[in-house]
Amino acid sequence: IGGADMPVVISLLNSYSGMAGAAAGFVLHNNVLIISGALVGASGIILTQIMCRAMNRSLTNVLFGAFGATSTAVAGDGVDRPVRTVRPEDAAVMLGYARSVVFVPGYGLAVAQAQHSVKELASLLEKRGVDVKYAIHPVAGRMPGHMNVLLAEADVPYDKLYEMDDINREFERTDVALVIGANDVTNPAARTDPKSPLYGMPILNVDHAKSVIVIKRSMNPGFAGSDNDLYCNKKTAMLFGDAKKMLVAVVGEISKS
Ligand code: NDP
Repeated sequence: IGGADMPVVISLLNSYSGMAGAAAGFVLHNNVLIISGALVGASGIILTQIMCRAMNRSLTNVLFGAFGATSTAVAGDGVDRPVRTVRPEDAAVMLGYARSVVFVPGYGLAVAQAQHSVKELASLLEKRGVDVKYAIHPVAGRMPGHMNVLLAEADVPYDKLYEMDDINREFERTDVALVIGANDVTNPAARTDPKSPLYGMPILNVDHAKSVIVIKRSMNPGFAGSDNDLYCNKKTAMLFGDAKKMLVAVVGEISKS
């Protein structure tokens, strides 16, 4: 078991610890142990189920799917593909003159602690009349709800957060999708490449937007270790750098204009 499956297994083992606690409670006639063990056990199982559903995998497949499989290197096929890079000032122009922008946060947003900068950029764009929405993938980050918690910390209004099925209908009408430290949850290989470890996982269809800006530090793959063809898409502009620093730079450029 490895890669994206590990947090699911950790959650399952966590639930077993609760069940073991509850069982010990019965032996010791200790009601507190029974109740707390049952709560930990049940919440762990529910979390496990939510994660499996979001990755479109069964628990059996997560636990036993890798048995007998030979390990293959999934990151990189040895071919250097060209990508289009932009600077913060170019990104500021694209965002400042858009009518609709969808922010797509991922694990990199959490690493950079860029939630407050995201909110600042959103407020600035909204003042200019841009329609701003946030696309939340159920397994973006490292725990279900990870992005919701971060954005709530920055006081992003809850009605601006859209779940995957709702926002996927919107991307075709979106001028700019701004991907902030998200990778696997935007990888089109999940739709098209049966060999990809992500195949079958529902993703955010950011490649359907009119243009895409991706903020990340390098061409390194995400959690699943798989290359992302989104970065080579003609519509995509890569803004390389730490998410917080890049967002602060973009905010600075938009404020100047
Ligand atoms: P990923 O892990 O796929 O990608 C995160 C990206 O963030 C990386 O490509 C990295 O690129 C970039 N990054 C890291 N640090 C920074 C930084 N400081 N500034 C800018 N970018 C940064 O994240 P996703 O959210 O897209 O996907 C989550 C993954 O976790 C999925 O594979 C999912 O299945 C898995 N998972 C999630 C669970 C959950 O419940 N949320 C549970 C189990 C698994 P670079 O290094 O180039 O900057």
